[in-house]
Formats: sequence, C-alpha cells, structure tokens
Amino acid sequence: MGFGKGAQSNKRPSIKPELDRHGLGLSSQPGHLWISCRTHIDTLALLMDLTNIDIVMVGTTHPGNIGAAARAMHNMCVSNLVLVDPKCPVDEIAYARASGADTILDNSRTAESLQEAVKDCSLVIAASARVRSLPWPEMTPRQTAEKIRDLGGQSRVALVFGREHSGLTNEELQICRYMVNIPANPDFSSLNVASAIQLICYEIFNLNRTPAKPRQSSAQESAATSQEVEGYFEHLEQVMTTTKFLDTENPGLLMQRLRRLYQRLELSKNEVNILRGILSSVEKYKARSN
Ligand code: SAH
Repeated sequence: MGFGKGAQSNKRPSIKPELDRHGLGLSSQPGHLWISCRTHIDTLALLMDLTNIDIVMVGTTHPGNIGAAARAMHNMCVSNLVLVDPKCPVDEIAYARASGADTILDNSRTAESLQEAVKDCSLVIAASARVRSLPWPEMTPRQTAEKIRDLGGQSRVALVFGREHSGLTNEELQICRYMVNIPANPDFSSLNVASAIQLICYEIFNLNRTPAKPRQSSAQESAATSQEVEGYFEHLEQVMTTTKFLDTENPGLLMQRLRRLYQRLELSKNEVNILRGILSSVEKYKARSN
C-alpha cells in the first residue's frame, strides 16, 4: 500500500527570520546573515529558471531518504518533488532529515504511476546505476545539465529516481528518453538515492549560473509531452499488430527498439501529429480494402 497524500499539504509551522524588502534578514545564529533561497532565485531569475524541473522518486521505502532528497534539492534551488507510489509516509523522520527544507516536503505531490507523474513533461530522464540489456541513450550528470539548460526553461523536465533496493523496472525505463549515470566505482556503483539527487541537482544548479545559449530555430517548435509520445507508441503498436508487422506471440524487442529510435528524435507536437496521421491513413486504407 502506498502513502500518497495527493496535492494535500502537510505543512508544519516553521520559524523563519523576518525579511526586509531585499529578502535579507538576521539569522538565529548571531553574526550570520540569512538570505532566503527564494531571493537567490529571484535575483538570478534572468540567468536560471529551475522551476520547470520535477524530481520524481519512485517507490521510495525510507522516509529519511525523502527528507534527505528534499534537503539536497533545496540546497540547489530545485523545488518540485513528486513521489510515485511511495512505500512510506512523509513523517517526522523525513522532516528531520530535510533539516529545514520543509517547503519541498509540504508542496510535494504524489502520483500512482510514473506514466501519470510525467505526463506533462517533454523530457523524461531516468537515473540509473545499472547497465541495461538494451543500451539506452546514456548521459553524464554534466550532459544532463546541459540538455536541460538548452531547453531554456521552456518545457517540463522530469528526473526519475528508482527504489532503494531495486531501482527502476524496465517498463518504467521505457517511458524515459535518456538515462543518466553517475560514474562510480564499477564494483560499488549504487549511490544512496538522495546522494544521487544531490549530485545531479548540483550539476544543473552550477551550469545554470551561466546564461543559456540561444535556442536553435529547429528546436523552437513545442516539444511533444510524454503523454503525446506514449499515445503515439500505443497507436503504432496497434497498427503494427493489425498489419501483422508485429507478431504479438513473439514480439521480441521490436517495440523497445522503436521507442529508442523515436526517443532519439526528440519529437515536436507537430511531428507526433504527422506520424499519427500516417498511422490513421494506414488504418483507413486497411478498412477500405477489407
Ligand atoms: N540496487 C539498485 C540501486 C538503487 S539506488 C539497482 O540496482 O538499481 C536508488 C536510485 O538511486 C537508483 O534507482 C537511481 O535512480 C539512483 N542512483 C544510484 N546510484 C546511481 C548512479 N551511479 N547513477 C545514477 N543514478 C544512481
């Protein structure tokens, strides 16, 4: 059973120093100046916008990891946390480990499935410590940060992190366009999930402190969302089954290979519409010739 709370808020009272109009205030520790992260974001707004990034944790079993992830995110000014089918509550242990990053936990949302969690995202990237049987387009954390920066804050991005004990299933990985791998000791490459989130968010934060390069004109068309691309894959599978190109008794890796091919193309909304139009024309042709 999951512990999802949906959009419900589980806010706790927090004591924050009063801010002046510049967002500056006195820390509870004498001699320290307290500056809110929000103020940093506002100040750097022209240079960086990380509000389009969702950190998605799938099937997390330990509340301490959810709290530690919130802290890691807040350190790096990444604020949207999505919990897919969490196996533990967001409880005192989570808040203790968040060390003051309460707003991230308060505003976290839950989803029943990964597909639902990322449906509005145009770029879905899975973090994985494992090499898979079918190689997936793989990036380093730095390349991931570059890819996200090049979007210029225009499209929603999901960074997906797996279960503590078993990571992500192959089915979940299929929904993701890329895989990000943190290079590590080949004999001990699996990081704690919150550490993995910390490292990837750091790369994104660090790179976004410099201005993004102007977007290429070919990239200016709106990117298709995960839901639109998934709709295309379903349609494609349906038509290939009808035309018997896909042998449902013995499908092999055909769908996985096609997914990988299309994911590489980074389809726009218009392109998905064209591809679906072609499939519809095949369906009409088949219906006429029956
Ligand atoms: N035993 C699991 C590892 C789970 S670690 C497995 O074999 O997959 C929990 C999550 O942290 C992983 O699913 C992944 O999202 C992230 N993670 C851990 N180490 C990582 C690494 N080296 N590179 C990228 N992500 C990593």
